[in-house]
Amino acid sequence: MSFDVGPYELPLVSPMVTSYRSIESRRGVLVSLAEGRLTGWGDACPMVGWSRSSLNEVTNQLTVAAARFGSEPLDDVLDMLAAVPEARAALAGAVYDLSAQRAGIPLARLLADTAVERVRVNASIGATETDRAVDEASQAVTAGFTTLKLKVGAASPAVDVARVGAIRRAVGDDVEIRLDANGAWDVDTAIETLHRLADSGVAFCEEPTAGIDAIATVGSQSSVPVAVDESARTVDDIARALSSGAINVVVVKPQALGGPDVAMRAIDLARTAGATAVVTSMIDSAIGVAHAVHVAAAAGSEVAHGVATSMLLADDVARGLPIEDGHVVVPTRPGLGVSPT
Ligand SMILES: [Mg+2]
Repeated sequence: MSFDVGPYELPLVSPMVTSYRSIESRRGVLVSLAEGRLTGWGDACPMVGWSRSSLNEVTNQLTVAAARFGSEPLDDVLDMLAAVPEARAALAGAVYDLSAQRAGIPLARLLADTAVERVRVNASIGATETDRAVDEASQAVTAGFTTLKLKVGAASPAVDVARVGAIRRAVGDDVEIRLDANGAWDVDTAIETLHRLADSGVAFCEEPTAGIDAIATVGSQSSVPVAVDESARTVDDIARALSSGAINVVVVKPQALGGPDVAMRAIDLARTAGATAVVTSMIDSAIGVAHAVHVAAAAGSEVAHGVATSMLLADDVARGLPIEDGHVVVPTRPGLGVSPT
């Protein structure tokens, strides 16, 4: 079996402004495992400002893994990559793609017998100005999306409350609205702002404040359910968040957790706790997004997942999975069903 690592750089449609720099492209590496006529694919695409590992570290670790692969047990090589989850996600992704191809079943079915065939996805409303955000939300609903996700916390709470309220009035009561504050508020501001947002029928708010314990405190005093995302970076973190009993939703990023198998452990924990798991991609390449889609399908629920990120890229390594009527249709071909063109 051959193990190859190849870099890519994909321009974004428009630059993404983070707290300390503007990103114009997404850079990552594809891992391929070839065996006979079959090739399994995985993606490592660390996000600057989010991931703890740089692309250099990810690439170096995968190069070491490639040298050890074949002469050492696979589990040992995957364990070696545990500290660099994006690298582990790429190798584990390629291994699972290849295994599903060998078994002649879609990857989602390899992960769970109960995998669904269509994954409902949320539309992300990027506009921050109220009139434009209302237009974007209305267009998304017309296109078939039934779940909208909005970022909050950058403007004042009053502006956020007005914007969410305007969108609710424009789209009606049947559309789910979820929020993401990315930890912007302190605990008291979060409780107060969520209280004011409750009238707009918010399904949940990701990271209303920063840190698992603080988010649980907000959740215990808020009628709007709360979710952990960047505050819970490992399966152990997710277990701790769920054990609080005050966090109702966990965001599961297969890329950031270390691959499809790790993501399924997080999803099982959420299910056992009676919480909702929302699977999301990270503006990774079409290979990484397809991996997230299969994990979302394996989660098997009707919840909308955050895997509609490919439209943010101006170019891609492969033809991405189309989004129709607010859903991604999971490929029925054996394996991942997406490979570089
Ligand atoms: Mg988030």
